[in-house]
Amino acid sequence: MDFNLTPEQVGFRETARRFAEKEVVPIAEELDAKGEFHYRLIPKMAELGLFGLLFPEKYGGSAVDTITYSLVLEELARVDSSVAATVAGQVNLCGDLIYRLGSETQRQKWLVPLIRGELLGGFGLTEPGAGSDAGGIATRAQRKDAQWLINGAKCFISNAGTRMKEVVVLAAATGIDPATGKKLISAIAVESATPGYRTGQQYRKMGWRSSATAELIFQDCLVPQENLLGEEGRGFRQFLQTLNLGRIAIASLGFGLAQGCLELSLAYAKERRQFGQPIAKFQAIQFKLADMALKVELARLITHKAATLRDQGQPFAQEAAMAKLYASEIATQVSHQAIQIHGGTGFMDECPVSRFYRDARILEIGEGTSEIQRLVIARNLGC
Ligand SMILES: Cc1cc2nc3c(=O)[nH]c(=O)nc-3n(C[C@H](O)[C@H](O)[C@H](O)COP(=O)(O)OP(=O)(O)OC[C@H]3O[C@@H](n4cnc5c(N)ncnc54)[C@H](O)[C@@H]3O)c2cc1C
Repeated sequence: MDFNLTPEQVGFRETARRFAEKEVVPIAEELDAKGEFHYRLIPKMAELGLFGLLFPEKYGGSAVDTITYSLVLEELARVDSSVAATVAGQVNLCGDLIYRLGSETQRQKWLVPLIRGELLGGFGLTEPGAGSDAGGIATRAQRKDAQWLINGAKCFISNAGTRMKEVVVLAAATGIDPATGKKLISAIAVESATPGYRTGQQYRKMGWRSSATAELIFQDCLVPQENLLGEEGRGFRQFLQTLNLGRIAIASLGFGLAQGCLELSLAYAKERRQFGQPIAKFQAIQFKLADMALKVELARLITHKAATLRDQGQPFAQEAAMAKLYASEIATQVSHQAIQIHGGTGFMDECPVSRFYRDARILEIGEGTSEIQRLVIARNLGC
């Protein structure tokens, strides 16, 4: 067991930190206040290679390991979760599905522009009637001549409804399994300019306010049959596999956010004076900071373990679920305590920890709620 990072991993982390400090910090609060998508960061992130981290060089990526990917997401979330969420949606949700399931032609068509930042990628699973119970989706795709005729709706979809060119990989029912009577679900790519496909308004959100989240509506939407990704009827399992990597990403967002809260709180506690001394001198504050540091470290360790197992080609679903569950819950706890340490200042909009507190909340919900993670963990224990 080697806890040291390689020089390459340290290099990627430092690059991501420099970018986060120089490009993201100055605009994060303003975009959050306006609820505005960070268009101006997309070309910069593409130039830095953030959208190609997990993919081979022949597509324009850098094929880093999963720990490096986690380190980069941590650095982004340390200053702004919205930006980290955009990268995660692009890389480990949409990009991963296209890379794993796509043919060479499909990778050239969608993955390469995703990596270049010319295309924004969404992952369309959740529907108004199917959230945690993702197998209950009602969106249908029927074969019509050489095309798919799609009807249905998706809700809460990240990286959708912007002014950019978009592609969404959609989970749609394409038939019924005669043996079980269950829906057969397939993954189909739909581009934003397709007739019959439209996105709703951007949701007004509590957190992740400068990330894009929209409803998708499909009304007699026709796409070529070549837009099917992977095997017809096998999409549900493929979507779930992508969510395992997604859980490592959400966990990284969780302890990245918590690390940011810890650093801000420590600095504030050393500077803020009450009763004639810095509040960091009070044991009550010291204990809060100690607990915060412990939680961040534990969340990072379990996430890096899940990432290492993935890189070794071993099963990692259990560790990914544990990492996601723990890191998202400690993000809530640590950001809560960060506000406490900042006192009234922490309650003000312009104080970053107040944004972090709002941003933390979605982590216990997206990509499987905490309750669903506990179900997954219990099932893997043999319950
Ligand atoms: C900002 C944001 C971005 C998102 N981005 C995407 C995206 O890009 N793509 C996408 O497909 N989805 C996305 N989602 C959707 C997200 O994945 C779902 O919100 C999530 O899976 C929960 O589904 P739900 O909201 O329908 O809640 P529900 O499933 O209705 O759950 C409500 C409550 O019931 C609990 N519950 C449900 N079933 C059980 C059970 N069996 N046992 C115990 N408790 C249970 C849940 O844990 C939760 O507490 C996003 C959501 C948000 C808010």
